[in-house]
Amino acid sequence: MRIGIDFDNTIVSYDHVFAAEARARGLIGDGFTGTKTEIRDHIRSLDDGELEWRRLQGRVYGALMAEARLIEGVDAFLTEGRNRNHEIFVVSHKTQFGHHDPDRVNLWDAALAWMTDKGFFDSDGFAIPKENVFFEPTRSEKIARIKALRCTHFIDDLEEIFLDPEFPANVQRFLLGPGTTWPAIAEAVFDA
Ligand SMILES: [Mg+2]
Repeated sequence: MRIGIDFDNTIVSYDHVFAAEARARGLIGDGFTGTKTEIRDHIRSLDDGELEWRRLQGRVYGALMAEARLIEGVDAFLTEGRNRNHEIFVVSHKTQFGHHDPDRVNLWDAALAWMTDKGFFDSDGFAIPKENVFFEPTRSEKIARIKALRCTHFIDDLEEIFLDPEFPANVQRFLLGPGTTWPAIAEAVFDA
């Protein structure tokens, strides 16, 4: 199998980083609890909310990347993939720099450093070749990459990618979401 996996919010979770940083900037109150989407909707409803939200995103995906967490179940999936000698690719729609990031952090480098730290490239970790990681500036280029890599499976948290008419019909699709967690995807992929 040639298994392609999205990165942001599929492999890595930023929810707690968004909440902490939004609180630190006074964009949400101390008592605010909510998902990333609820935080976004709240901030967008404020004066200059759209700009505040973009600044926050630039900071979370850049300078604060190291604080992000591996989503539960990814670890077991990647270990199983390695043990069964499947080829794993990470294909992410990500610009090299955030549009509203005053620190101008290179987001590709930040993501690679995070993966290195989590053992993605170690022979005794997930043993994924670094060349198997691709950052594509647009969704269209992401889909072209999935095609060029001849992925047999693709896992993503956004349905838009699968609904895109350009998405190759012969690739098996797995949508990560509230009803479908990583252990369920592992079962569907490896025990099919
Ligand atoms: Mg994603």
